[in-house]
Amino acid sequence: MGFVIKKMKIKPLMLDGLDGYQFEELIAKIMKKKGFEKIRVTSKSHDVGKDIIMEDSKGNIILVECKHQNFVGRPVIQKLQGAMNHEEDRHSNKEVKGIIVTSGKFSKESQTYNKQIRQEIELIDGRKLNRLCKELNLIILNGKVQILTNDSFRNISAKDAIDLANKGFSKIYWGRMHNPKIKTNLEFNPACYIKYNVNFNTYTSVGCIDEYSDSGIIITDGLSGEELDEDTTEFFFSGRIDTEKIKEKDENKKISFEFTENDTEEQAIDFIIKEHSHNVNYMGDNNVTYTKNCIPKRRDIDIKQFVPVYLPVWTNEIDIMKMHYTQEFYVKGSKQLYLNDELRKCKICEREKDEYEDMSICPECGRIVCPSHVKIDYLDKETPICTIHAKSFNLWIQNKYFAKKENLKEYKKQWESMNFFQKLFEDKIAFGLCIGGAFIILLILISLFS
Ligand SMILES: [Zn+2]
Ligand SMILES: [Zn+2]
Repeated sequence: MGFVIKKMKIKPLMLDGLDGYQFEELIAKIMKKKGFEKIRVTSKSHDVGKDIIMEDSKGNIILVECKHQNFVGRPVIQKLQGAMNHEEDRHSNKEVKGIIVTSGKFSKESQTYNKQIRQEIELIDGRKLNRLCKELNLIILNGKVQILTNDSFRNISAKDAIDLANKGFSKIYWGRMHNPKIKTNLEFNPACYIKYNVNFNTYTSVGCIDEYSDSGIIITDGLSGEELDEDTTEFFFSGRIDTEKIKEKDENKKISFEFTENDTEEQAIDFIIKEHSHNVNYMGDNNVTYTKNCIPKRRDIDIKQFVPVYLPVWTNEIDIMKMHYTQEFYVKGSKQLYLNDELRKCKICEREKDEYEDMSICPECGRIVCPSHVKIDYLDKETPICTIHAKSFNLWIQNKYFAKKENLKEYKKQWESMNFFQKLFEDKIAFGLCIGGAFIILLILISLFS
């Protein structure tokens, strides 16, 4: 069996499952992507002849009529025309334009008629709509906008990622004596930046008790749909947001967004409702104070901006002797946020330190250990050794530790040849006890003779 590579045609949008209202919502979304502003879907308020009102960047008013049907005839154009005239009368200082969008086709007659009227209406049929989506880089699946992007926070190269591991490693005590094997791997985690406004009033029998208006930003994890954790949000989204296009060779490292844009927005709105619900105390007609929980409705929330973006995350796999270490970190330009850094984690007690400088590496096994699990060779005063491999020698009370066997042997010889006082001085614990004891005797004598 061979491979047959077919030239991909632009597939028609699969919109059959949508009802009229969902179709309008989709068109509103496409218009937002096209850069229109102040988009309102009005059909639910039974406005005749227009489903969406929006503005272009110059502040012109644009009325959009959406027809999720096979054929659109002349009456639809006439109706929108009427709505445009009405809108013009209301805003004499603004230009009013019209667009009709259909998933089907416009009849010949309607197209001829449209050319004759004073202000031509823009007609977008199914094919044009399809092309528009393609231009905007929108993938519509079952009427929902799939999230696709090539934007990532400014990333580093694989060499830079390996250099980071080497740099950290060289700061570890005795690290420079080793030559670790490092493999690195890049992935892009998906996230969505959502900017919103929320405006709503709460009424009770005594009238309006609360006028609420706020705006905010929510960052969601493109995989779980949940709010992104605080550390990651802070790292990427505070300060300047500096992005770049993902290089073609790295595009296969993108982890796909798990949800459609619609679903992500829906979930975000749930978080926003929770975030902006609040209690208000008010006085009733009977002079009794009540507490009302003011909760925004979904339509009170306006998504101003929806920006999908990738977060570069690197994994370094580091091998030293038989030991294995992993580092995982996010990258934003020249900064890193470590999710995991085993080069700063003691292989014996698993405690993590803030600095590489706090760690030492055992030359016998390659374990990186914390200050509590390292000994320094007593004779050469520099070679570290983990507490598992430290060679100990018991003096009278104190233990001395050695990294090298020959140093232990050498020291044993030295110890044998010492006299009592040299040995006493050598055994710091025994020496300390003697001094302490002598001091106590002195105190007793003083107290006896004074
Ligand atoms: Zn430790
Ligand atoms: Zn060791």
